[in-house]
Amino acid sequence: MNRPLAHLKLPVEQSRGRRYPELPHPYRQDFQRDRDRIIHARSFRRLENKTQVFPPGISDHFRNRLTHTLEVAQIARTVASALGLDEDLTEALALVHDIGHPPFGHAGEDELNRQMQRFGDRFDHNLHALRIVDQLEQRYALFPGLNLTFEVREGIVKHSRDLRPGELPEFLPEYRPPLEAQLIDIADEIAYNTADLDDADSAGLVPHEALFAAVPEAAALWERAESQYPAAAPRVLFHEMLRGLIDQLVSGLIAGTVAAAAGLADVTAVRREASRVARMTPDAARVNAALKRFLHERVYESEELVAERGSSIGHVAELFDYYLARPGELPEHTREALASEPLHRVVCDYIAGMTDRYFHRVYFGTVSPE
Ligand code: MG
Repeated sequence: MNRPLAHLKLPVEQSRGRRYPELPHPYRQDFQRDRDRIIHARSFRRLENKTQVFPPGISDHFRNRLTHTLEVAQIARTVASALGLDEDLTEALALVHDIGHPPFGHAGEDELNRQMQRFGDRFDHNLHALRIVDQLEQRYALFPGLNLTFEVREGIVKHSRDLRPGELPEFLPEYRPPLEAQLIDIADEIAYNTADLDDADSAGLVPHEALFAAVPEAAALWERAESQYPAAAPRVLFHEMLRGLIDQLVSGLIAGTVAAAAGLADVTAVRREASRVARMTPDAARVNAALKRFLHERVYESEELVAERGSSIGHVAELFDYYLARPGELPEHTREALASEPLHRVVCDYIAGMTDRYFHRVYFGTVSPE
């Protein structure tokens, strides 16, 4: 494949730049610097101890949010490179895409949002990611946050949904994001659908007959691997099948995006399209949807995970109330934010920044001393 969409790449020289102007670096371009700033951020390292789907403690080889992030970056870079898009921008966006996630996965996010709605406010992990990179990370003497380029900040708020008219006017709500950002959401889905299937299989939650009935392509890939490697162990056959699925979905994303981009001249044309250009072919989208449905029915709604989520949500609500009633017990550096932010936002930022492990330490040290 010969970089078929190189003409739709967002040229780094056309970046709208940073909020606080900086001198250029002698050998790293701006999107590379953004990637490096993200990797060195504290919030990035905390992803290691944040739940993806399976809580830590059950097994040491399940994905956490950091290893998930690396898998998304790998898939997104592969696609960007095959298409001829900017790999550095794509990589920076993939690495930052989950940085705003609170502890306990989506259950934690939903609960924080519920708490914030009591104050007419809300919590959204993408908007929180923007707060982190714009304000909450404190590492530079000259500016708050990481001072990332416009394109990375825009990608943070737009990679998974279009903005509503008038929402966040700074980020051009009337335009689609460039292809580098559009890819991220689909690379994310490919990464987590296949990884969750893998982890769920390790946890014994995937009856193979049910999977094969729900996703016929998985059955075909398994049969092919079995006839090619008759002596292979079932766990190895499972991986052969999984690799085949990832390949089908990634190839489908590349082909689907090339087809949808026909006739577009440059990144401005991509931005002006009424809907997103990055997409899978209909065949790949069908496999992806079947996989997603299977995971919802068999894994995400399984008794084990539902019970785990229930207790985490309860603890988040209790800790939120605890600090609302006792702001004096917030750590000193967190309390400083009360000079410019309402208490519910400061409590929300504090809890959202916690790893699962730190949350438990704080919860059992305050609300419910053991
Ligand atoms: Mg993700």
